[in-house]
Amino acid sequence: TAPDTALETAFKITRKTDGISAVERERLVADPGFGRAFTDHMAVITYTEGRGWHSPEILPRQPLMLDPAASVLHYAQEIFEGMKAYRAPDGGILLFRPEANARRFQKSAERMAMAQLPEDLFLEAVDQLVTIDQAWVPKPEVGTLYIRPFMIATEAALGVKPSAEFKFIVIACAAGEYFSSDAGAVSVWVEENSVRASRGGTGIAKCGGNYAASLTAQMEGKAHGCHQVLFLDAEERRWLEEMGGMNVMMVFEDGTLVTPPLDTGTILHGITRDSLLTLARDNGLTVKEERYAIDQLYADAAAGRLKEVFACGTAAVVTPIGTFKSGKGDCTIGDGRSTGPVTAKLRQTLCDIQFGRTNDPHDWVKRV
Ligand code: PMP
Repeated sequence: TAPDTALETAFKITRKTDGISAVERERLVADPGFGRAFTDHMAVITYTEGRGWHSPEILPRQPLMLDPAASVLHYAQEIFEGMKAYRAPDGGILLFRPEANARRFQKSAERMAMAQLPEDLFLEAVDQLVTIDQAWVPKPEVGTLYIRPFMIATEAALGVKPSAEFKFIVIACAAGEYFSSDAGAVSVWVEENSVRASRGGTGIAKCGGNYAASLTAQMEGKAHGCHQVLFLDAEERRWLEEMGGMNVMMVFEDGTLVTPPLDTGTILHGITRDSLLTLARDNGLTVKEERYAIDQLYADAAAGRLKEVFACGTAAVVTPIGTFKSGKGDCTIGDGRSTGPVTAKLRQTLCDIQFGRTNDPHDWVKRV
């Protein structure tokens, strides 16, 4: 982090003066749940066509003023990211591959015809917010600071066209486990009717519309007692793609790790996914990015060839899947409850790097 004075000149900083007390904050940060314990500030950068990105600010977190004609409200020009800050053993604060989030944000912007935010501005906004709200980063045994950078189209103009104005905003919240720890291995509903993404669509962009479109499937999954939804490909409803908010990986009895490939253009390029594939290779596993059919999953699980399945993402980290349910019936992985050895090892290795408990051979961790 650069000295405070240099930062003040770039970002205009307005500190919150009427925030909650330190005692109240500490109570929240000690038991934050997920997605509700918001920090005191937000970072905002404005884009205006012809002028570019300007007016970077850190402000007390507050409601936005938007014209009711703002394009985001009508045509859903909106993208976001999800990343975390981790409390290191020495009390310092670490980010995990933040430049990968900055790059994915640019890819999402490109797909949604939005202004490209330079990588260094993205990183600086995150850095600034985490620095000013560092007291909100929980202890490692409690959780992390979940960071949500996003961009909305703010031009007040009806008519379907790319907006000429945008706001890039970063908010954050103290966060515990995404799945309650008593969930153990989670259950997953295999969605056979609606799809999340199709070739040529917006599956690789992290845009809000993808998530809105996934909610009916999530409700259906919940009605079947499942924690998560697995989406299949749009053309054949046969190949595994990904879950509502995480990627999926399979471990076979011969030690092969399989995950759906990215070349269909329908799957989000998960940073956790990419990191785990690297760690798996480091650990001597055979890694295959190839299509895998849901019928095959049911058959391989029944035959005992498929040993472990897990979901992975920034929020979920690495979460074992114990059961799949679909119109065709149930399928249990292993004993349906426990975390398999490969899943456990990958999770541990990843978390040790993210929390700064071990050396970082791929230079993934950045100190705030
Ligand atoms: N797929 C989807 C649809 C997601 O929303 C996420 C979360 N960003 C992921 C996969 C996992 O990506 P990452 O590991 O970068 O969090």
